Parts: sequence; C-alpha cells; structure tokens
Amino acid sequence: MERNEIIRWLKTEDGASLDHLWQRADEVRLRNVGEEVYLRGLIEVSNICARNCGYCGIRADNHKIGRYRMTEDEIMSCVNLAVEFGYGTVVLQCGEDYGIKKDWMSEIIRHIKKETDLAITLSLGERSDEELAAWREAGADRYLLRFETSNRVLYDSIHPPLPGVPSDRIAMIGRIREIGFEVGSGIMVGIPGQTYADLAEDIELFRSLDLDMIGVGPYIPHAETPMGRSPGNLRAPEGEQVPNTELMAYKVVALTRLVCPQANIPSTTAIATLNRDKGRELGLSRGANIVMPNLTPLKYRAMYEIYPAKAAADETPEESRANIHRRILSIGRKIGEGRGDSRNFAKSKRGS
Ligand code: SAH
Repeated sequence: MERNEIIRWLKTEDGASLDHLWQRADEVRLRNVGEEVYLRGLIEVSNICARNCGYCGIRADNHKIGRYRMTEDEIMSCVNLAVEFGYGTVVLQCGEDYGIKKDWMSEIIRHIKKETDLAITLSLGERSDEELAAWREAGADRYLLRFETSNRVLYDSIHPPLPGVPSDRIAMIGRIREIGFEVGSGIMVGIPGQTYADLAEDIELFRSLDLDMIGVGPYIPHAETPMGRSPGNLRAPEGEQVPNTELMAYKVVALTRLVCPQANIPSTTAIATLNRDKGRELGLSRGANIVMPNLTPLKYRAMYEIYPAKAAADETPEESRANIHRRILSIGRKIGEGRGDSRNFAKSKRGS
C-alpha cells in the first residue's frame, strides 16, 4: 500500500468505505494469524521513572502519585497467576526505573523460566545494550519499545532525552533485533502536532522495521503532564492534525494489519478506555489478535497511571480474565493456547 493510499484511508469519513476497510483487515488477520486471540498477562513492575515524557502520567516530575517497585516475590505471584489463568506470556513493564538493575532482572527472568514455560516480554524502556544482552541471555524472549512517532522533531519535543544521552528508539529497535529478541514497537495516535503524513510514515516504518509486534492506541491527555495542560502549543494546523479518537485508532489498527499481515497486534487498553463497552471487541474485529489482561496487584494499579481513567483499572486479575474471555468468545473467536509467538518472527531466519 502506497503512502497516498494510507493517507486517503486515514482521512476518509465514509462509512461504507470504512466497513470495507474493517472487513479487509479482518480477512487478512484471519488468513495470516488465525482465529486465536493470545493473552499476555501484564505485570506493571514499577512506576518509578527517570524520564519526563510530555505525555506520560508517571513522568518523574509528577509528584502527585506514590511510587512503587514490586518485589521478586510479588512478581512471582503474578507469574503464577498467569500460569493458572492459562496465559502463555507475561509482559514485564515499568517506567524507566534505574533502580531495576541488570542482575536483579536477569535473576527474575531465570526464576520465571525455571518454574514455568511462559514466554517473557520485556517493556522496560531505553536500556543499555549490555543490559538487553544479559536479559536475552537469561531467557527473555521479546522486547517492546514504541517509537511513539516517526517525526523526529515531534519526538524530541514530547520525549526529552536524559541528560547527555540522546534518545534514539529506532536505533535501539535495531539492536533489540540483533540481540535476538522478537521485536515490538508502536505509536500513539493523535499526539498534538502529529499530522496525517506523519501517521502514514509511522505505518510505513512498521513495515520497513519488519516488526513482530505492533501496539497502537489513542493518545489520552493526562492533567499532570505538560501536554495535558497545554496541548495547543503543539497542535498541527487545522486539517493536518490527527484527532486522538477511537475511530482513528481503529483505522491505524486495520492499516497496520494490512501492511504487516503476520505481526501480533493487540487490541489495546487505551482503545478500550475510549470505548469501555465495545472497544476491545472492535479492535479485535478490525485487525488485532492479542489482548493484554492486567495481572498487577490492585494496590499498585492506580499508581501506574500513564493516562487517566484506564479501562479495567479496578478489576481484579480474576475479573479481567473472565471479562476478556467473555469478550473474545462473544465475537466468535478462540482463546489462543501456548506462547503465541509472532508468525512474523517465526517465518524469518531470526526465529529459527
Ligand atoms: N517506560 C516504558 C513503558 C511505557 S508505558 C517505555 O517508555 O517504553 C507503554 C506505552 O504507553 C508508551 O510507550 C506510550 O506509547 C503509552 N502511553 C504513555 N502515555 C500515554 C498517554 N498519555 N496516552 C496514551 N498512551 C500513552
């Protein structure tokens, strides 16, 4: 699909054409990754963060939230729930917490691998090559790092570097691949300052990076962030600014499926936050094949507030499991069994 066609889809408001887009995405999803929806148990290991991303509620300068880092025992309790619930993967995610040391994380990865058959996905932010290699060596399978936007100027304005360390997530994605991880990335849709051309470029970059996993969700303003307080400073000219709507997020999910047919694509919590009733199901019907139910203990949940009013934030892990099963079965899909590795990774030389 050409750039101009992507832009045309992103701008279209015509219901009949969009129905056609949803249908195409759903067919391509079925043909390439099947009926199964794979579940990844999300463990929000720490909300401590060294960064000051303009969009994110757990940025270092937000002093209105309490901070936590889970203990190894607490993490292992979540891991055991994942096994009990039949999830094939756990995702360990956190702020950029440099109190999480290389050896501590390696030890946890080994512990999980020793006691379970789970696949492990890491989403720990921008870490050194040495740390990444050690974690891969310890047994971690996949790494998620969204590049957030392919527009370098916009990226720099919303994602300041740490003092003296340039932030280049696209370069880091290359290293994640070389180290041998299954590679995941993604973006936010409707960032103030993001144009239709930028978004089309993001989707093309998914393809050229040959991503195995691609997560996209609407940008949701958080009141305790610079972007939440004054979005007007960044906004693109009228007609060029991508809206941060539910509909735009589905368009990006569907187009992503068309350009990256074999990738694993989640129906994200950010989408479900804009439509609590049917967001998960609509994402799954418009290209997605993954859901990431939350396993984080409830006492920490409210503190991992990257954006406000997150869907399912008050559900226990048991309730999340039941609700997600019900939603998947209600649209005639199956629950995936096993790890659900990315077919994009398996078909490449990297996966063999
Ligand atoms: N510290 C890790 C994990 C961050 S949370 C990292 O930076 O990779 C995972 C994702 O949540 C981010 O990559 C970003 O795309 C998304 N996110 C953060 N703030 C958001 C907001 N206000 N609205 C929507 N998505 C947001």
